[in-house]
Order: sequence, then C-alpha cells, then structure tokens
Amino acid sequence: MKKGKLIVLSGPGGVGKSTIVVELKKLDHFYFSVSATTRKPRPGEIDGVAYHFVSDLQFQEMIENKTFLEWADFAGARYGTPKAPVDKALAEGKNVLLEIEISGARQVKEAMPEAIMVFLQPPSMQELEARITNRGTDSAERIAARLALARAEMAAAGEFDHLLTNHRVEEVIEALVSLAAS
Ligand code: 5GP
Repeated sequence: MKKGKLIVLSGPGGVGKSTIVVELKKLDHFYFSVSATTRKPRPGEIDGVAYHFVSDLQFQEMIENKTFLEWADFAGARYGTPKAPVDKALAEGKNVLLEIEISGARQVKEAMPEAIMVFLQPPSMQELEARITNRGTDSAERIAARLALARAEMAAAGEFDHLLTNHRVEEVIEALVSLAAS
C-alpha cells in the first residue's frame, strides 16, 4: 500500500493552529496524532482526546522508552508525539497531521525528511499578541512567557517548506488538504 503523507503544521503559539485542527477533524482528510503533555487540562479538554495528560515522571519514562517521534519543552510544560501511532497510520496509507511547536517540527524534519513542513503565520504581529493576551485561561506569567516565545518562534518561518497566513480558517484548511493531495 502507498504510504500516507506526513504534514507538520507549526507556527507560533496563539496563531490559531488548534482552531484549524478542530475544524479539520470535522472532515475526513487526516489522521490526527494525540500528543502527550505534562500541562494540566483546560476546561473541556478530555484525556486521550485533546492530549494524553501525564505526570512529569510518566513523561520522563516515555522519553526513556523512546516513545516519542519528537518532544519539546514549551512554556513550562512538556509535549511529545508518540511515534508508533504515526508510523502505523502512515503505513496504512493515511495522511497524518501533526500540530506541534517549532522545535518539535525541526526534530520531525530530521527524523522524517519526507515530512511536508507548514508554518502558519498570523496576519500581523499585533493580531498574534492580542490573541495570546486575550486567552482567558492562562495566568499573567504564562501570558508573558507565551508572548516572548511567540516573537522568537516567528523567526523560524524561513525554515519551513510552506508558509500559510491565517486570514481565514477555510483557506488554511483548503491549502492543507491540497498539500496532502499533491
Ligand atoms: P497548548 O498548551 O496551547 O495546547 O499547546 C501549546 C503548544 O504546544 C502549541 O504550539 C502546540 O502546537 C504545541 N504542541 C502540542 N502538542 C505537541 C507535541 O506533541 N509536540 C510538540 N513539540 N509540540 C506540541
């Protein structure tokens, strides 16, 4: 069977990657990897669906057991993509979409050079800063950390194969679907 394609959707935190994923999940184009994270669930997030919510110790064990295709520290928590489900889906011919931050994206490119690397950028820096600041559930400290990180992350855009601007969710979705079909 023809292997599926691996699409890595990255970009600064707060740019709207997760909204894109929420909408894409309503369609039947991609297999979505469920990441492990050490951060606490936000209201409405279900364990095993949004993320596998794990302790620091469990995450450390997963690293040692070589569970992850990639993992990263991000804004005070750890996030990682379990490798086996991704390999299985690709082998079954499914197109897989990973929504991850930049340093994880770099690791995927290294491990799987055939991955299609997509950077989602905001329409403007002001818009990105407003989105991060207005996120209701994060503490002031976490917001400040996310702002600083997002500014640094924007500098990585040039490392990616494809640059998409998040003007409209529908446009981004269309572009991702056609990349997988190309
Ligand atoms: P949030 O805490 O808002 O759900 O996610 C924070 C950041 O972690 C986002 O930029 C998201 O793309 C990234 N992220 C989610 N899962 C993973 C993962 O498995 N690996 C990496 N490297 N980043 C992830």
